[in-house]
Amino acid sequence: MPTIEISPLVKKPPRHFSDLSPENRAIAVTELGEPAFRAKQLANHYFGRHNETPEAWSDISIDSATKLATGLFPTLLTKVRSVTCDGGTTRKDLWKLHDGVLVESVLMRYPDRATLCISSQAGCGMGCPFCATGQAGLTRNLSAGEITAQVFAASRAMELGEMGAPMRLSNIVFMGMGEPLANYNAVMRTIRNITAPTPDGFGISARSVTLSTVGLVSGIEKLMEEGVPVTLAISLHTPDDELRDTLVPINTRWKVREVLAAADNYATQTGRRYSIEYAMIREINDHAWRADLLGRMLKSRAAHVNLIPLNPTPGSKWTASKPEDEKKFVEVLESYGVPVTVRDTRGREIDGACGQLAAAEKVSKRNKFKVLSTEG
Ligand code: SAH
Ligand code: SF4
Repeated sequence: MPTIEISPLVKKPPRHFSDLSPENRAIAVTELGEPAFRAKQLANHYFGRHNETPEAWSDISIDSATKLATGLFPTLLTKVRSVTCDGGTTRKDLWKLHDGVLVESVLMRYPDRATLCISSQAGCGMGCPFCATGQAGLTRNLSAGEITAQVFAASRAMELGEMGAPMRLSNIVFMGMGEPLANYNAVMRTIRNITAPTPDGFGISARSVTLSTVGLVSGIEKLMEEGVPVTLAISLHTPDDELRDTLVPINTRWKVREVLAAADNYATQTGRRYSIEYAMIREINDHAWRADLLGRMLKSRAAHVNLIPLNPTPGSKWTASKPEDEKKFVEVLESYGVPVTVRDTRGREIDGACGQLAAAEKVSKRNKFKVLSTEG
């Protein structure tokens, strides 16, 4: 019986300048019949000046600029809508990709910095039951160009004063949709695009970039060898394997002990402290005895704990911890000398937690947000 090949319907995102290393950018430019030095000019426009409009590339003739833009700067993100809260200092953008897939990014302005939370995958295959993104499963990996384009858009928005007085985008966190270490190559190319000094990248320091992971040990080990000391955040959520096997299913592959050992090695190699993310879920993982176990585990480690009040997903039976339980949890950790912070709930009213805007879009078209713009 002949087998019938079904061609995949999924088309790869078009190639973008930011998918490529600086060396390959020069090659791609020559393949389009332009001198290699144009790659630096383009990099300066894109990463340095946040400008992807060929008409504004004044050091390149309009014919060449148009050809280069067509060949290397396809539109990767189309804004579906923006919603703001916290008095205009938090903005969530919902983006449509070339194949109609939706992802989101969140921009937060503080007095002294501006932080962008980016997505590395559409959906996520890790299946954490408290997470909106996890519930939808993995749709696909994003390309480096698609992840980098979120940074480009936010850099431009900050510079144009869309979030108050113009300010530089200073911090990036991989805490949007997806597990960044499960899309390793695209994430690594993006990290280089973010941290390389201009013109090759946006020139944001590696210490201002935080990669949050569910604990893919092989990925943490690989990241350690890259020589780009980004800050690591480990989504632990409980110190005991029994519960973690349920809350973070990848724990059945890499146990708490192995994840912490990998994070310790990372800290030693890079000289960077790491953080432990802990979603506080009422009467699930917020018991004083768990705080005690966590305190004992972390007291001699280069880690601090970031407690995140659970943002319940639609239909979830779980909710955030009681204030008194949260307070006790903090006290127990502090009694071990473990630094602990409770994450501010920025973006809460616009479903700021992981993947919730895109998830809401899928579940219901009912518009409960304040819509700022609608394009595309
Ligand atoms: N996949 C990566 C990064 C994206 S999630 C990771 O899991 O680390 C970013 C953070 O948001 C993680 O710590 C995640 O556990 C947390 N998170 C996910 N859903 C949440 C929810 N409903 N309430 C509070 N925190 C949540
Ligand atoms: Fe994926 Fe992170 Fe959500 Fe878990 S918490 S499902 S790893 S995005």
